[in-house]
Amino acid sequence: MARTEHILLLAGTYEARLLARDLGQNFPNARLTASFAGAVSDLPNLGVPTRVGGFGGVEGLCAYLQNEGVTMLLDATHPFAAQMSRNAALAAQKSDVPLIRLERPPWRKQEGDCWQMASDLHAAANLLPAGSRVFLSIGRNDISLFTHRTDLTGIARMIEPPATPLPAHWHLILSRPAQSVAEEIALFQTYEITHLATKNSGGSRAYAKIEAARALDLPVVMVDRPILPEARVAQSVEKVLELLKGY
Ligand code: NAP
Repeated sequence: MARTEHILLLAGTYEARLLARDLGQNFPNARLTASFAGAVSDLPNLGVPTRVGGFGGVEGLCAYLQNEGVTMLLDATHPFAAQMSRNAALAAQKSDVPLIRLERPPWRKQEGDCWQMASDLHAAANLLPAGSRVFLSIGRNDISLFTHRTDLTGIARMIEPPATPLPAHWHLILSRPAQSVAEEIALFQTYEITHLATKNSGGSRAYAKIEAARALDLPVVMVDRPILPEARVAQSVEKVLELLKGY
């Protein structure tokens, strides 16, 4: 890639961190800017120039692409960050800037899994039977869809606290996902969890809970991914680099 190239990396995932590292090594001449929504306060240092905050919708992103001379847009946001991905697809099209979306593969149901699919979080909350003790790992937004149900209780794990405190019958755990299945099993047993509700984020870093549910025969309400516009999709960091070499 030539010195005139400017890659804008929409970040917020582990893969985006890896990409920031590898892009610098593979395309040392290109300018690289990473972008965060600023949704969490302890943003990782990606080691590249970084901007923080929304662009101001599609129009704002188009303006940014033009003003900053962006020549390649990489969308490495979370599979459930649908608004950003939709804006990126539209802005790329309007601005005639090539777009690659990094989309890690979703988790697939395996033997021993007891999954009930939900089309969105609202449907997931409605699927849980009365009296369930739920383990929730859906982030801090939308948590009230579950906690407003007085017939459910359980624990909610997230990185930063929700805007409104959880009701007293819910327990809040502020942490990232445990990496070991044994830890997740111990957590579910300690809190006598009967059901899990989770987004189908994919990847290995949040998968231990799915394996723990399988081991304990716990039912999982699995929220399907939002539908995103057509785009050039790569399923791994390596594939993104390969595609970029073709430009
Ligand atoms: P979202 O609903 O798709 O986006 C909402 C708005 O936040 C966007 O319209 C955009 O604002 C801004 N935004 C999102 N990602 C941005 C980025 N990388 N750089 C600049 N602005 C960004 O996103 P979300 O679900 O709130 O997620 C926010 C961030 O957290 C994303 O970067 C995502 O990768 C990360 N994340 C999300 C989840 C999840 O489950 N949703 C999980 C882990 C990490 P403007 O319209 O003003 O440009």
